[in-house]
Amino acid sequence: MARILQPTSSNLDDIAAYLQSGEIAAIPTETVYGLAGNALDPRAVAKIFKTKGRPAQNPLIVHIESLEQLSSIADISESAKVLASLFWPGPLTMILRKKSIVSDRVTAGLQTVAVRMPSHPIFRELARRCSFPIAAPSANPFGYVSPTRTEHVQQQLGDQISFILDGGPSEKGLESTIVSLSTPSQPELLRYGSISLDSISVALGIPVIDKVNRVDSGNSGLISPGLMKKHYSPNTPIELFSGAVPEVNSNEVVLHLFWNSDFDPKQLYLSETGTMEEAAQNFYHCLQFLDQKHFNKIYLELPPKGGIGDALRDRMGRAAARG
Ligand code: AMP
Ligand code: MG
Repeated sequence: MARILQPTSSNLDDIAAYLQSGEIAAIPTETVYGLAGNALDPRAVAKIFKTKGRPAQNPLIVHIESLEQLSSIADISESAKVLASLFWPGPLTMILRKKSIVSDRVTAGLQTVAVRMPSHPIFRELARRCSFPIAAPSANPFGYVSPTRTEHVQQQLGDQISFILDGGPSEKGLESTIVSLSTPSQPELLRYGSISLDSISVALGIPVIDKVNRVDSGNSGLISPGLMKKHYSPNTPIELFSGAVPEVNSNEVVLHLFWNSDFDPKQLYLSETGTMEEAAQNFYHCLQFLDQKHFNKIYLELPPKGGIGDALRDRMGRAAARG
């Protein structure tokens, strides 16, 4: 079992020193909980891959707390500055050209590096105490549902790590939006998240190309976990629906998007207040909860397209994918 640490000043000092020594620990961010280590320390990077069982071809996101720190690891283009000023700190990851200090192990041999400045106040308190950028993929075994609460990390990785820093439930509940600026004149969206493609296009003043369903490389080529067809998957089979609610037997369960006044108390839903933000926030938590009930099947109601609905549809599709 890992120790769950409250974010007191002395615990934050201790975790920073622990990471500095080449160790890894689970930490909160506003998207999901991350498995954190010094991105510039090969020992820490190796531990992250090993603990997650993450294939070496899957590059890590490097988390920073200032633009000054960013300039030590990546080339900051004009478009990166624009997006940073509008969306950072926050749930946007940018792919930029890397500097030589960033190892091939972190970027899976690519000349680009994924970077993000999280907004979670506890993350920021920790990052300010660290003199290094923090690599932090989601704190779950590769391919499984991402953790949005300390108990998810405890269940999935508690026997492999020593510490989980408690930052409460993740506010966004879905992984960051990823935009590639490796060719600044041709920005590409690589993963849907809470920041929409349209808002990035408007910010940059040029169209962003939607690559999310075009770069799906299955199990070969440039693999990116967030881009794989099957990902974020519980053990229970999932079926998606929209419109008519499926008839289920007692071994199956329906997870609705929004609460409805016709519901009896046994019906399950992602959002009580009827917002997509709340549905996204609760999604992974509900999936993990239901996965432990060992139903034969979970039916998930698809949200409509657009905005965060796109991100949620994307995660639901990958969670339901087989093989
Ligand atoms: P996560 O597993 O949430 O940490 O997200 C990591 C994701 O970032 C991977 O799924 C990749 O899709 C993406 N990524 C990281 N580095 C790069 C890169 N240099 N080029 C393209 N995508 C990247
Ligand atoms: Mg992940």
